[in-house]
Amino acid sequence: MNNPENKNDNKKKQKEQKKFWVSSIILIILIVILSVVTFLVYNNKDSEEENDLILPYTELIKDINNDTVEKIEMTTGSTTVKVKLKDEEEEKTAIVPSLQAFTEYMQTKVEEGSKIELIQKEPNVLLRIGDALFTLLPTLLLVALFIMLFKMQGLGDKGKVYDSEERDTNTTFDDVAGLDEEKEEMVEIVNFLKKPEEFYKMGAKVPRGVLLCGKPGTGKTLIAKAIAGEANVPFISMSGSEFIEMFAGLGASRVRKLFEKARKLAPCIVFIDEIDAIGARRTNASGAESENNQTLNQLLVEMDGFESDETIIVLAATNRPEMLDQALLRPGRFDRQIIINSPDQKGREEILKIHSKGKKIDEDIDFKDIAEDTAGFTGAELANILNEAAIIATTNKHKSINKDDIEEAIKKVTVGLEKHSRVISDKDKKLTAYHEAGHAVVSRYLETQNDIKEVSIIPRGVAGGYTMYKNNEDKYYISKTEMEEKLIALLGGRAAEKLVLDDISTGASNDLEVATNIARDMITVYGMSDTIGPISLKDSENPNQMILYGEKMQDAIGAEIKILIDTAYRNAQKLLIEHRDKLDAVANVLLQKEKITEKEFYEIFND
Ligand code: ADP
Ligand code: ZN
Repeated sequence: MNNPENKNDNKKKQKEQKKFWVSSIILIILIVILSVVTFLVYNNKDSEEENDLILPYTELIKDINNDTVEKIEMTTGSTTVKVKLKDEEEEKTAIVPSLQAFTEYMQTKVEEGSKIELIQKEPNVLLRIGDALFTLLPTLLLVALFIMLFKMQGLGDKGKVYDSEERDTNTTFDDVAGLDEEKEEMVEIVNFLKKPEEFYKMGAKVPRGVLLCGKPGTGKTLIAKAIAGEANVPFISMSGSEFIEMFAGLGASRVRKLFEKARKLAPCIVFIDEIDAIGARRTNASGAESENNQTLNQLLVEMDGFESDETIIVLAATNRPEMLDQALLRPGRFDRQIIINSPDQKGREEILKIHSKGKKIDEDIDFKDIAEDTAGFTGAELANILNEAAIIATTNKHKSINKDDIEEAIKKVTVGLEKHSRVISDKDKKLTAYHEAGHAVVSRYLETQNDIKEVSIIPRGVAGGYTMYKNNEDKYYISKTEMEEKLIALLGGRAAEKLVLDDISTGASNDLEVATNIARDMITVYGMSDTIGPISLKDSENPNQMILYGEKMQDAIGAEIKILIDTAYRNAQKLLIEHRDKLDAVANVLLQKEKITEKEFYEIFND
């Protein structure tokens, strides 16, 4: 499987630079647009005058006196007037020496009984804007130049752009739910930060670096901040991916600056997020990687150079501790590791409670129920769900957040937003209905598979439809039978398409990908294949690669995967043929109502 984190690192690295370029380009585009508009307006004005016939001033006076003029049009602020002669079709343009004098002259003419029609006009808006722009253009250019210079400077001064320092973080351990054991371990560090002398007197060695390992969103940053908050010391943070710079040597100097600052602020907490971005195993490679090495070396130097009376604790977070250079994990460096797991059910309930504070929530909502439905969710995802629920409740004008809002939020976070607007043909609808019904019906007859919570054929995110399962319990181990049955459930969609429509579609591609990955892991990671035996073929040095095998082994693995998938597909078909009436019943409800609830689904089976 691929590694989305790698991409993220790169993205962050480029983000600042991108921002700079985007704003410069926008500025340049703006200036160009302004110039073009001004040019066009002025050109327009010129060509208008050229095309018209010019009437010399003397002729104009003569014509007025001979009474051959029918109409004169004057524009405020302009000495150009338009003249319509009685015996000519086209209007002519004349330039008068002074508009005021001409106006006065014409007024006396009219008073004397002239029949000339006088029209006074306000200048064209476009022309006026053009005039204004033309006068403003140099100023605008100067301002733009200043902004660009300013930005360039910001880009050069990394320290200011990136590291953030928060003195009195208001975060405390009360804001961190679920991680009870982890918090207990941290109390020691808090005490050390508060009263370092006592520890020194006793001759105790306190860890200088603590590595927090866990998935994104499990609260690593949160707990680091809470330590600073509890000890009431400054919190300086930086992200590992930000260290990786295009310019050689910058990463290392940034590390130096970070620790210079920490020494000034000590006692304090230094938090390095995504440390794997700089702390990956050192290589002999050149270019970007040797830059990486320099940064890492500097970090090691800084951590070794702590004086005994400097009270600085470095906390680092990573999702891939196995990637880290062993030198980082040596005594005196990150010699303590704390694994932050995704919260268990009780933890999830507590996290939900913490994040429900300050939100209007229906009284009958039981966080225990929500916690049951959200096995595997991280703290960040749970916080996100409650926030989404609040948004949904507001949109629906509910008085407070109710059960439906929360269920909708869970779906939104897991499968994406419902897209009612997408037009689906009847044929596609039938295909999707049978596909999803296939997953659901097959799962119903599989002992180990979770109960169905909802099936829908309303497109959501990228999915054309979905089958939602209830998360019944937190599992730490999965049995072989369970994995095999999972394969059957995954292939239920494709099997139903084939059985009912005698055709198959692209709709199953994700199912097949997931199923194939599971089958491969069963064989190469969990040693569940009899032919290949209980061997782990995963390369612990390089988790993305397999080791230990040549072509023969590859062929054997391929054959085993095929057997697992084929068997699962056959079993899915068998189940569906046997329970065809149920499959039709579920698909029909879906075609009628687009959705089937847990209750409606199990009523079909008389459960
Ligand atoms: P990480 O650093 O592990 O990626 P964060 O600490 O940035 O995760 O977590 C993101 C957000 O998720 C936090 O700001 C908090 O709102 C929420 N969160 C995560 N874990 C917890 C937890 N155990 N208790 C309360 N909130 C949590
Ligand atoms: Zn499917």
